[in-house]
Amino acid sequence: MPGCIGLPIEAAHIRTAANSGIAVKPHDAFCVPLCQAHHKVQHRIGHPRFDARYGIRLLALVRVFVWTSPDDKMRESVLRLPDHLGQFFRKELGTV
Ligand SMILES: [Zn+2]
Repeated sequence: MPGCIGLPIEAAHIRTAANSGIAVKPHDAFCVPLCQAHHKVQHRIGHPRFDARYGIRLLALVRVFVWTSPDDKMRESVLRLPDHLGQFFRKELGTV
């Protein structure tokens, strides 16, 4: 979060209807780093309201982190996701 200096930093999974379900956590690629306090807010109100409240686009950040990650295995695993999820990344990677 811009300007936030809160600690500890946690991996916040960004849930969508497509990437999660009851007791099903999204793929770890759908993560952004948030402080514990902002992570709790994001869980409580969901990412669309979180985005609106803080003027941020968490799913856009997810894509940026995937594109710029030095973790080749993570990027390869994203490309193997089922189509309905993989498109989220493949479209932006220019392979669709
Ligand atoms: Zn924070």
